[in-house]
Amino acid sequence: MSDTNGGGSLKETLWDPIAGFGVTFRTMFRKPVTEQYPFEKRPTAPRFHGRHQLNRWPDGLEKCVGCELCAWACPADAIYVEGASNGTSDGTDGGGERFSPGERYGRVYQINYLRCILCGLCIEACPTRALTMTNEYELADDNRADLIYEKSDLLAPLLPGMVEPPHAMLISDDHHDYYAGKTLPVVEVTHGEATE
Ligand code: SF4
Ligand code: SF4
Repeated sequence: MSDTNGGGSLKETLWDPIAGFGVTFRTMFRKPVTEQYPFEKRPTAPRFHGRHQLNRWPDGLEKCVGCELCAWACPADAIYVEGASNGTSDGTDGGGERFSPGERYGRVYQINYLRCILCGLCIEACPTRALTMTNEYELADDNRADLIYEKSDLLAPLLPGMVEPPHAMLISDDHHDYYAGKTLPVVEVTHGEATE
């Protein structure tokens, strides 16, 4: 049998409103969890999947060999790659330009961030670790065209000691030395002349 007070039980009439305010009171004294984005940006987890980056060797040459494995691995069909042949530093190919060690490089490289779901399968597929992901997550824009990133948008910045390609292989004439982790040769300057 229920207590009747305008149709509701005593519990519904007296206790439930107080219990509802109890949640409010408890929450009032808790530390707020609201993030003041974009005025305060909190760092992501170290392995957060953000915008991609095309990496370089220590001499500035590009690690991408234009193999398209990343494009084939992508479940969202977000990557477009066109490979091309490098020139040789000795000019035996007719004087073409060199952008990466070895035979091929990525002449065209695009990632469509309207499609990308930041799953990371492309970076797993890359055989040279040319493609990795940064922690950058601010990828919004006000038009579709600017969300298709070109190679120039994705290439890693030049660090000290790096030279913008095209140029000859500065670490070694053998591209295997690049993959083996050989470092740039030490150049000593003696009496104004550079010697290796
Ligand atoms: S992160 Fe995933 S969806 Fe985005 S380009 Fe790579 S494979 Fe495609
Ligand atoms: S980023 Fe890696 S997988 Fe993609 S084309 Fe370049 S070398 Fe190949």
